[in-house]
Amino acid sequence: MRQLFEDICPPEAIVAPAQLRLRDPGYSATSRDAGLLLRPDTTAMVAAICRTAQAQGIGIVPQGGLTGLVDGTATTADQIALSLERMTAILRVDPVQRIIVAEAGATLQQVNDAAARYGLMTGIDIPSRGNCTLGGIISTNAGGIRVIRYGMTRDNVLGLTAVLPDGTVIEDMNTLLKNNTGYDLKQLFIGSEGTLGIVTAAVLRLYPRPDTTGVALLSCPDLGAAQALLAIAQRMASGNLLSFEAMWPEYYALTSGLLCKGHEPLPPDAALKIILEVAGKDSDATEALLLSIFEDAAEAGHVADGVIAKSQTEQLAIWSIREDTDLIAQPLGAFLSYDISIEANEITGFLDRWDRARATHFPELDSFVFGHLGDCNLHVCMAVSPDTKQNRGPIDDIFYDTVTSTPGSSISAEHGIGLGKRKQLPHNRSPASLALMRQIKATLDPKAIMNPGKLLAEI
Ligand SMILES: Cc1cc2nc3c(=O)[nH]c(=O)nc-3n(C[C@H](O)[C@H](O)[C@H](O)COP(=O)(O)OP(=O)(O)OC[C@H]3O[C@@H](n4cnc5c(N)ncnc54)[C@H](O)[C@@H]3O)c2cc1C
Repeated sequence: MRQLFEDICPPEAIVAPAQLRLRDPGYSATSRDAGLLLRPDTTAMVAAICRTAQAQGIGIVPQGGLTGLVDGTATTADQIALSLERMTAILRVDPVQRIIVAEAGATLQQVNDAAARYGLMTGIDIPSRGNCTLGGIISTNAGGIRVIRYGMTRDNVLGLTAVLPDGTVIEDMNTLLKNNTGYDLKQLFIGSEGTLGIVTAAVLRLYPRPDTTGVALLSCPDLGAAQALLAIAQRMASGNLLSFEAMWPEYYALTSGLLCKGHEPLPPDAALKIILEVAGKDSDATEALLLSIFEDAAEAGHVADGVIAKSQTEQLAIWSIREDTDLIAQPLGAFLSYDISIEANEITGFLDRWDRARATHFPELDSFVFGHLGDCNLHVCMAVSPDTKQNRGPIDDIFYDTVTSTPGSSISAEHGIGLGKRKQLPHNRSPASLALMRQIKATLDPKAIMNPGKLLAEI
């Protein structure tokens, strides 16, 4: 396979299988199983690779930071992996228009660091920020911890460049907020998980970096109380409410126990723990705002206890309790992670049904729930052995039966479909929508070489 690409790619852009197997596979066990890894450094080189791959009928799996959680980067030996790891340039930051232009291999952290020099930031923030790439967050339409304030990735991309499977370069690097000139083609590549083309660069919106952020950790007796707290916080903080994250008791007990070792900011008990993050002019203002939210909610009985972080270190300590999700894997070596949306008034019923189903079918497994409660996005995780993870089908079936029998639910809030959720896709997409998706795929990728088998079971 290597010879096919040697005329197009210099030696440093080609990684042979033996070296490839030595690389960290990230969050998808088979992401390093490809027959070849190509690391182009220009859009033109990406286009040439696509042309050759299409002519030979070779599957291409686009890869970013490999932090995706639905096996979207899984490969087989007859495919090539294409990484944007050598395309990381920040091309432009415009503080007047508040935009940043970067190559798609730049990490979210690199993009934010460049924006920070102008007192700006992206609206997108996810815990994998140090590794996930611009191309990855665009292709998965990533969400994260600030969606309630700035929206999903889809709401933050102004333009992009994408290479189609036949090598055509769609350069749609719009930099304007307003540009009504027909079909919004960039949206085809946002959230399509690399199945329609390879994103090589993009233009993102930027926002003023808050002068200060304040973080509180609050204890709510139950979900109803937490939702009442959300309403109070939205009213009192208005546009300054950045994040509203929830940790159910088992999750908080596990991660705070492992991280804080007896010095937890709040005791692990039966209450739901909420992280509230607000923006403000200075630390006095954010503290005063958090305190008044706390007092109003406590007076109404929605909050039983709470702490307000007094320093950046205390803020990070609170956030790490929520973000160090990998700790779930510690006891058994692996974990299953489900990412769903449930309508606000259905969450309690859903969790009760899931607890009953789990106790009936898998009483030996513990379930840990946390997530972006401000936008009804729950993550349900279970510690399992690597072997159980390999053979997760029966657990998936019971879990998704519980999700799909819940009105107003989504099988994927923000992680996408990848390989893992194709079977459940019809829950959220009508037969007509699925047929149109297949038609779009067949039009842009008639030989089905672009991330084969992901998202849609067949074209
Ligand atoms: C600790 C942790 C926390 C996380 N938290 C969140 C969260 O809060 N919100 C959230 O939404 N996600 C979260 N994720 C999931 C993950 O970080 C996101 O899905 C992220 O967007 C993936 O980016 P990546 O660069 O790692 O992409 P990869 O994992 O490399 O790829 C993901 C998908 O995008 C495709 N792709 C990658 N680059 C390109 C490209 N240039 N062109 C075309 N297709 C491409 C791949 O083929 C694959 O289908 C988390 C993951 C971890 C490990």
